[in-house]
Amino acid sequence: MGRIEKLVLSVFLVTVSAGSLGAEPYFDGQRAMQHIAAQLAHGPREPSNLEAKQKTLRYIQQTVKTHADQIAVQTFEAHSLKGTNIWATFVHKNTKANAGRIMLGAHWDTRPRSDQEESLIKQKMPTPGANDGASGVAVLLELARIFAISPPPVTVDLVFFDLEDMGNINHLPFSIGAREFVARNPFYRPSAGVILDMVCDKNLSIPRELYSKTQAEKLLDRIWGIAKAQNSTVFKDRDGSYIQDDHIPFLDAGIPVVDLIHYPFPDYWHTSEDTLDKCSSQSLQQVGNVISSLVYGIP
Ligand SMILES: [Zn+2]
Repeated sequence: MGRIEKLVLSVFLVTVSAGSLGAEPYFDGQRAMQHIAAQLAHGPREPSNLEAKQKTLRYIQQTVKTHADQIAVQTFEAHSLKGTNIWATFVHKNTKANAGRIMLGAHWDTRPRSDQEESLIKQKMPTPGANDGASGVAVLLELARIFAISPPPVTVDLVFFDLEDMGNINHLPFSIGAREFVARNPFYRPSAGVILDMVCDKNLSIPRELYSKTQAEKLLDRIWGIAKAQNSTVFKDRDGSYIQDDHIPFLDAGIPVVDLIHYPFPDYWHTSEDTLDKCSSQSLQQVGNVISSLVYGIP
């Protein structure tokens, strides 16, 4: 064995032993930032931009494929639109331990209109979706890496929803993809879930979203308890608003799912200014730390 092989092996052993000791692996906010940049490079991920959607689908699949135990790509048609949800699973190996199952979700599509712009010309342009779209996906992709290094004590599903952000365009609802997912997988009923949406802002502010508070309070309290223990500055100890997001179809099915979302919405929300420079790796880091502690069961 040469010097390089020895080095590679020792790095491998360190990684494996850290995992087998149950040590929580390190969520890397910088890597999450790179996942945002990679999605933005494909262009807006909206229904008329088939090339950007194909590239992003491939990017998500290829990134999770190397880590997850199972991956399902579910295409659907709803409201005359074609959509694709991606569902990756990290199976908890000890099936005897009824440890539960947690779903972590984010929407990978972006809004085809910048309807919060003042100028009528700009309103017709799609939003780049750095914060609104790419940031939640980026956190999930980085979590996939650490779940592969150190398998969580529960089965974890990462679900990437399409067609969240068509709401109020031609009278369409929000969360078309998430609603299709819940309807088309009636056997899938996780014990808990978290939606991540708009989680990269430099001044990230996540108050208690009110549908989550009223319908998934135990889980919400647990998340806020972890955030407090970690001295998180992005989770706010106050109530936000009632927000339509991908947790609603799950709540409607009786599944406790909490929506983590920046509120009040930043001033570049649903505009052409939703770009990478609005994001911070530290904000992503704090969100990633809280979610990984939730999954690994560390208070
Ligand atoms: Zn949006």
